[in-house]
Amino acid sequence: MKIEFTEDQLCIRQMVRDVMEKEVLPHVETWESNELIPKEIFPTFAELGLFGMVIPETYGGAGIDYISSCLVIEEIARISASLAITISVHNSVGCYPVFKYGTDTQKQKYLLPLIKGEKIGCFAITEPNAGSDVAAIKTKAVKDGDTYILNGTKAWVTNGGFGGIAIIQAITDPAAGPKGISSFIVDSDSKGFIISKKEDKMGIRASATNEIILEDCRIPSENLLGKEGMGMRIALDALDGGRIGVAAQAIGISVAAVEKACEYAKARTSFGQNLADHQAIQFMLADAATKIESARLLTLKAAYLKDNNLRCAKEAAMAKLFASEASIDVTYKALQIFGAYGYSKEFPLERYSRDARVTTIYEGTSEIQRIVIAREILKAL
Ligand SMILES: Cc1cc2nc3c(=O)[nH]c(=O)nc-3n(C[C@H](O)[C@H](O)[C@H](O)COP(=O)(O)OP(=O)(O)OC[C@H]3O[C@@H](n4cnc5c(N)ncnc54)[C@H](O)[C@@H]3O)c2cc1C
Repeated sequence: MKIEFTEDQLCIRQMVRDVMEKEVLPHVETWESNELIPKEIFPTFAELGLFGMVIPETYGGAGIDYISSCLVIEEIARISASLAITISVHNSVGCYPVFKYGTDTQKQKYLLPLIKGEKIGCFAITEPNAGSDVAAIKTKAVKDGDTYILNGTKAWVTNGGFGGIAIIQAITDPAAGPKGISSFIVDSDSKGFIISKKEDKMGIRASATNEIILEDCRIPSENLLGKEGMGMRIALDALDGGRIGVAAQAIGISVAAVEKACEYAKARTSFGQNLADHQAIQFMLADAATKIESARLLTLKAAYLKDNNLRCAKEAAMAKLFASEASIDVTYKALQIFGAYGYSKEFPLERYSRDARVTTIYEGTSEIQRIVIAREILKAL
């Protein structure tokens, strides 16, 4: 067993760190208060390969491995959690299902604009009355000649506000339960694709989260992804990658919080010494660093399995569960180290805490991750 990064992985990480500090850091607070990442910046990231990270070069992607993509998401989240989830979702549940399950024609038509950042990918399974209980979705896709007509409402769609390419899960066979769900590639230019309510969120405010209404949205039947009834399989497979991405996002937020807390603890004095000299503060930092390292190891293990085409449902769920819960704790402790200034918008600690909070909710709540992990271990033991 070798626990070290390759030259390429280190190089990609450094390159992304440099770009984030130069191109993104100066704008983060503006993006958050405007609740928008300007689309105009996307081609810059696309040129770096960030919009088709694990897609092979033959399809125009960057062809990097999942381990590198984790380092990339972590570095982005260290600066902007909103941008990290935008890019993670685009890659893991936007591009990946098209690459893995798409026909050659679908790949030619939809992958390239996604990779070039001309179209942003999103994934819509959640509905106003169906979140964790995916099988309870109501959106329907009815075959009509060589088209499908989609009707329903999708809620909380990350990147939904940009308009681009949506991977939509809809029921094609109501009698078949979860096996009656299918996946479709839907261009937001399609008639009846309505970008609706924008969510007013606690954190990651620059990330575009919208409701999408499908009103007699007619799409060519060739936009079915895989076969009818494969929707759950496609969604669960894509979500394994998505959960690895959220874990990496949570780690990046935690890293940023600890870096700031260390800096502050060395500069601020109380009772005649630096905060960093108080053992209580040192213990908080030590616990935070240990949690970050544990989260990173779990995440990289899941990424390693994915790189080797091995099943990683349990490991991705463990990584997401641990890294997300750790990030809530780490960001709160880092805020505590700042005292009152942690509670002020003058410093980013309050933003980190708000941003970390969502990581235990999306791409499956912590409770759902525990269900996945328990199911896997009970099956195996
Ligand atoms: C910012 C943001 C972005 C999102 N982006 C997307 C996206 O791009 N695409 C998309 O499809 N969805 C997205 N979601 C939706 C997200 O995946 C759901 O919110 C999540 O799956 C939980 O569903 P819910 O909110 O309906 O909660 P519910 O399913 O109603 O659950 C409520 C609570 O009950 C718990 N619970 C539910 N069932 C069980 C059970 N069986 N056992 C134990 N506890 C249970 C849950 O863990 C939770 O704590 C996003 C959400 C947010 C907040």
